[in-house]
Amino acid sequence: MNRRNFLRSSIAAGIGAALPASQVYAAMQALTTPYSDIAGVTGAGAEVVMSQAAVQELSDSLRGNLLLPGNAGYEKARLLLNKSFDKHPALVVQPTGAADIQQAVNFARENELLLAVKCGGHSHSGKSSCDGGMQIDLSTFRHARADRTSRTAWVAGGSLLGELDRESMALGLVTTAGTVSHTGVGGLTLGGGFGRVGRRFGLALDNVKSVDIVTADGQLRRVSAEENEDLYWGVRGGGGNFGVATSFEFALHPMQRQVIAGDILFPLSLAREFLHFYGEFCHTAPDELYCDAMLVSPDGSPDGLCGVHVCYSGPADKADSVLAPIRKLGKPLVDSVAAIDYVELQRLWDNTDPRVGGEYFKAGFVNEIPGSLADNIVDGFETDARNGLTLYFQHSGGAIGRIAPEATAFPHRRSIGGMFIALTWPENADPAEHIDYVRSYWKTLETSTDGYYTNDTGDEPQAMINANYQVNFERLLQLKNKYDPTNLFRLNANIKPTA
Ligand code: FAD
Repeated sequence: MNRRNFLRSSIAAGIGAALPASQVYAAMQALTTPYSDIAGVTGAGAEVVMSQAAVQELSDSLRGNLLLPGNAGYEKARLLLNKSFDKHPALVVQPTGAADIQQAVNFARENELLLAVKCGGHSHSGKSSCDGGMQIDLSTFRHARADRTSRTAWVAGGSLLGELDRESMALGLVTTAGTVSHTGVGGLTLGGGFGRVGRRFGLALDNVKSVDIVTADGQLRRVSAEENEDLYWGVRGGGGNFGVATSFEFALHPMQRQVIAGDILFPLSLAREFLHFYGEFCHTAPDELYCDAMLVSPDGSPDGLCGVHVCYSGPADKADSVLAPIRKLGKPLVDSVAAIDYVELQRLWDNTDPRVGGEYFKAGFVNEIPGSLADNIVDGFETDARNGLTLYFQHSGGAIGRIAPEATAFPHRRSIGGMFIALTWPENADPAEHIDYVRSYWKTLETSTDGYYTNDTGDEPQAMINANYQVNFERLLQLKNKYDPTNLFRLNANIKPTA
């Protein structure tokens, strides 16, 4: 054993018990140079050493970057939007195209490495980075192109929603994307994709015409209604389970640039009445109206608010009559609804996420808002002493609900919306008390949910993850057995292969 390996073993043995895994790997890797042996972790959690020659060969095979701890760019790559996750991959591949991704996948499979795939880095559970494994950071692989004649957009696998919106709208076209422009197309689309025009055009995944994907065997496959149809079905809802998506082809739809959007907010004292109203209204709203509901206590203010965020993309002169039932609820404290450029609207919330400090999040789909749910929401919503508490419903239904649960791998079609609680706290605050509060509050709401968004999957028990695929689980399992029998792609809402 040379000196470096001796030191590495000593660190692992001596401090491994005292330090979190992330810091152990950071310390171990600090002793390496790009060309020495690298300690890593397999998908099953065992230690593995990658030889200097093998790592050099991987590096030489790439057009993009291979980053090790200490290299410029490594810190940015490993970190996610939610800074509570502080993971240290043994190596990071930043591909410039599908060929690099094939090399990375082959290397990870041959070394049985734990493998994380990062696109926009918005994973609520930190699954797009890892300790000791390989991270494929797709941030170096971003590009979107739209075509007016075929009403199609092609988007590279690491792209952000803002790129898709911007290129499409430049041609007067749109497809469903999420509500924050720096969310990744990759994670959002493979798991679902709710957004401001989803009730008109379906989920992001309902608009996917084809995906190019590097599967666990290193093959680059096109999946569409004509090619690899089984996988085409599976990638539309199966999340990252089947490989690294290198390109998405989206159907686009004509839409005017100007939409009518904004917030209508009332005092929190109206919350009970408001939730009863919303439970009916969200069913009867036209497809052109996207209407999220919320209870918010901004910055821990005791004077919370309740109300809606709307985006109406129908004819502008009809907006007032469509929104009239909401305004009849009372005198709003805020009414910011106005004409706005759609791409600008899609960027409006880009700075309202927990980039500093921590966040804890619980979510599930609801098919209705019975009185008992409205009561529990209002009774458990603590305004004072909470820094940034939000209870939110992301509006679903419309075109999303007219697709059969088994038509794609995404089954949650009956939902009127995704309900979530998000609580943020300042940097350096002790998260434990905040997390306990969210958990106990959520317990009172969870019984009214029917499954949850695959993209929100955390560390739930395996049986719960399986059950959440509902009617589609068995078919997804067959696909997983066929395309990823060793579970290379496991950092997701994981379908454990049984083959
Ligand atoms: P990442 O953390 O980069 O990836 C998450 C997972 O997706 C990875 O672990 C991997 O399994 C998989 N993955 C990503 N890219 C690829 C790829 N190219 N190939 C294979 N697997 C891949 N959801 C909505 O539906 N609508 C919204 O409006 C919405 N708004 C959000 C706003 C914020 C601020 C946040 C934090 C989340 C929001 N979400 C929304 C949830 C979002 O859909 C998920 O967090 C999603 O996983 C984010 O994708 P990402 O690429 O940014 O995340």
